[in-house]
Amino acid sequence: MTTKTRLLGQTLEQLKATAAAAGLRPFAARQMAAWLYGRGVTDIDAMTDLPKRARSWLADNCEIGRREPLFRAVSADGTVKYVFEGRGGRDIEAVFIPDRERATLCVSSQAGCRMNCAFCMTGRGGFQGNLDAGDIINQLLSIPESDRITNIVFMGMGEPADNADAVLAATQILTSPWGMAMSPRRITISTIGKTDGLRRFLDECQAHIAISVHNPFPDERRAIMPVEGAFPVREVMKLLKGYDFAHQRRLSLEYTMFDGVNDDRRHAQALARLLDGTSARVNLIRFHRIPGFEGSPSPQHRMEAFRDILNGLGITATIRASRGEDIMAACGMLAGKNQDSGKKPVTPQDK
Ligand code: SF4
Repeated sequence: MTTKTRLLGQTLEQLKATAAAAGLRPFAARQMAAWLYGRGVTDIDAMTDLPKRARSWLADNCEIGRREPLFRAVSADGTVKYVFEGRGGRDIEAVFIPDRERATLCVSSQAGCRMNCAFCMTGRGGFQGNLDAGDIINQLLSIPESDRITNIVFMGMGEPADNADAVLAATQILTSPWGMAMSPRRITISTIGKTDGLRRFLDECQAHIAISVHNPFPDERRAIMPVEGAFPVREVMKLLKGYDFAHQRRLSLEYTMFDGVNDDRRHAQALARLLDGTSARVNLIRFHRIPGFEGSPSPQHRMEAFRDILNGLGITATIRASRGEDIMAACGMLAGKNQDSGKKPVTPQDK
């Protein structure tokens, strides 16, 4: 059996090569991109401005490559979590988060993750494979809320900097005039600071950058984030200081708060020193308990005190609202649990 080439996820250059193979002129690549990313067609024959003979060749050799979600879970607060088939038998997740006029989709970049952060359910499940750009774009196009999405965050399963080729190709499709023409200011790539991939994000796209810090002290950070051994967060901050975050793009630090572990004055002051000289803002995140990790969430009053110390030191810090707790919206909590109650298959009526 021959495998058909997937069109979804192809950049303009790749579509030009596909067009040439189909006997089409290079400009047909833009027509194909408009059908794929602008109109979201699911059938090659719907590309009616391509000659019938070329459509026939494409249908024989290619597929659009859309994949419907396997099921979804809807939170009382309107958050919707989708599970898609991923790689190596591991499902992946995308979370739709409506918030007044904004609607954010949190997308996955890998099936599982090899970064092994102690507090993360995705990391605990190991790594099953990289997603490609088609898998990433599919998460946007295949959900019923597709037309409502205003912002994209790469904060789902996986470490984007460990799959930079696919994340950059997807970002190119999202932001190019021939693709989905989103402003890069509506895209945030969140990374734990694997600097080879991070450097490419800084140099090759204009998306906002979020760095997962979670502890400013190297020894303490390494205890929960092994990546600190290879890519120390202090080196990451040095790299970031060479880029402009005061104008077009934004830098933020993600800081998940664990009771009695990283939430005292000493940590707040060290965190402030770490981002000294940057315009970074800090998002304080409530920890959601996971099986097999003893840490517990910092109580609200400690999170507020931590925020106030940072604010007092001139740093913009906010406590991020928890969303979708009733559907286990924390990364990696739902995929693979599709037998649990409260989730339902996505039906044509949902569209
Ligand atoms: S927190 Fe992010 S980088 Fe760490 S294991 Fe989980 S998905 Fe991977």
